Amino acid sequence: CDMGGLDNLIANTAYLQARKSVDGDAKEMLKRRRSLSLPSPDQCAEMRQKICVEFESVCEQQPIGKRFFRQFTQTVPEYQTAVTFLDELNNWELAENTGRDNLRQNIATSFLKPDSKNFISYMSGEVAEKCKNVTEKDFEEVMALAKEETRKFLMGKPFQEFQSSGFFDKFMQWKAFERQPITEKYFYEFRILGKGGFGEVCAIQVKVSGQMYACKKLDKKRLKKKNGDKMALLEKEILEKVNSPFIVKLAYAYESKSHLCLVMSLMNGGDLKYHIYNIGERGIEMNRAIYYTAQITCGILHLHSINIVYRDMKPENVLLDDNGQCMLSDLGLAVEIKEGKQINQKAGTSGYMAPEILNEENYTHSVDWFALGCSIYEMIAGRTPFKDFKEKVNKDEVKRRCLEDEVKFEHANFDEPTKDICKQFLVKKVEERLGCRGANDDPRKHPWFKSIQFHRLEAGLVDPPFVPDPSVVYAKEIGDIADFSEIRGIEFDDKDKKFFKRFATGAVSIPWQEEMIESGLFDELNDPSRKESKAMAAGT
Ligand code: ADP
Ligand code: MG
Ligand code: MG
Repeated sequence: CDMGGLDNLIANTAYLQARKSVDGDAKEMLKRRRSLSLPSPDQCAEMRQKICVEFESVCEQQPIGKRFFRQFTQTVPEYQTAVTFLDELNNWELAENTGRDNLRQNIATSFLKPDSKNFISYMSGEVAEKCKNVTEKDFEEVMALAKEETRKFLMGKPFQEFQSSGFFDKFMQWKAFERQPITEKYFYEFRILGKGGFGEVCAIQVKVSGQMYACKKLDKKRLKKKNGDKMALLEKEILEKVNSPFIVKLAYAYESKSHLCLVMSLMNGGDLKYHIYNIGERGIEMNRAIYYTAQITCGILHLHSINIVYRDMKPENVLLDDNGQCMLSDLGLAVEIKEGKQINQKAGTSGYMAPEILNEENYTHSVDWFALGCSIYEMIAGRTPFKDFKEKVNKDEVKRRCLEDEVKFEHANFDEPTKDICKQFLVKKVEERLGCRGANDDPRKHPWFKSIQFHRLEAGLVDPPFVPDPSVVYAKEIGDIADFSEIRGIEFDDKDKKFFKRFATGAVSIPWQEEMIESGLFDELNDPSRKESKAMAAGT
């Protein structure tokens, strides 16, 4: 009997079961949920001082804040109109060509005509005048102004009044709940999914919500021994800043006795390297390559917009979720660049590193576009541009080719637009590379992406071309993932303990609030028939 194979089967079965149905443990979860309650309002007074009360964060980005702000605006007709107007503008922006015209006409008649019930009367001055006289031709331009004016209006009196309303008190209770301490008892743990430099990554499930996540566990002793602690904190802080549908989300950071843990979006569909080399013929179909690259491009642009360079773009670091959407992961090499500064630290993976890194010159975001060029090439050809599949060459030769050789496009799947985008990303001179030729050089405008409507892609409205099989575990067998050796002779001092505390900040607002809403806990705990208790149950 193959014990390793049996272990793997048992681990997979438990994991697939948890993924498939949250009601697998319905009774257990109900019991836990019933014991939960929001902290009482008097426990939340200090919350107001602690949190940053900023319109964009509270009313637009945080899902629970947004809900309460909306509920508040429903109590004043003028505020309600402003919010509905923004919703309609959003629907119109995301609509496809046919529905778009109807939505535009609806907006014009219900919001922009002074005699209509929903007239946006808070608008004044030049913008109000422009709205009154809007035509089909300048609609887009005028609506961009109207949208800004509407947000400004909501940020004023309505936002002030919201903060002294009962809705805001309730929001403070949720913010206090969000700050509850998180320990490993908060989760069930399932099979190991992969291995990183400082520990394993496993699937976990939040006991009270059923939400599945991936947990990257970093061994504290190993971190200390190999001086990895600063890197770990940097990775955590960067993940926390990021808010893009195309980058894995950090939901919790906590510590156990032996590990620092990063709890992130669970990506069940495998990485792109696996899809290029381990499924069917080498390479990925053109429509998939275009779709994934479009999402990756949005992810990279998001990082660059907050002055972060990713530095580890390669198919292995792009993971697929259940639906077949992809996200960038492993931000361990990402760095924040101070305004106007450059870096010259050598970092990246051989075969994807740009000439400016190899030459040890100063660089910023240009290196990500070069690495993306290598990755597109690899998705199409099933090999990287400077190293053939399974070719045995040393790093110096790869470096020489990358610096000196013209890229060849011998694979039959390269058509003209694909060759062109690869060539433009793989330009050796930074100033001539796609994405680096001035402030408005947007790779999304390249004709290779002509089938992609980016604003719909960002809103999650474009169906993925491939959906991973829900009954397949796209990860190595557990027996094939090597164990870690025990680290001896490392003790922690006060400085270390302080550092661990800095890392273990608990729930991250936006993903945690999403989890509360999606799991139904938000509605359950807001139910007025439920008693409030002083206990801040941590789901243990
Ligand atoms: P390291 O930075 O130490 O290399 P990674 O972040 O790359 O660690 O994670 C190690 C491995 O764990 C990955 O190669 C992948 O197999 C798996 N993994 C990482 N993050 C996730 C995730 N969010 N969902 C599923 N598997 C993941
Ligand atoms: Mg990695
Ligand atoms: Mg890493």
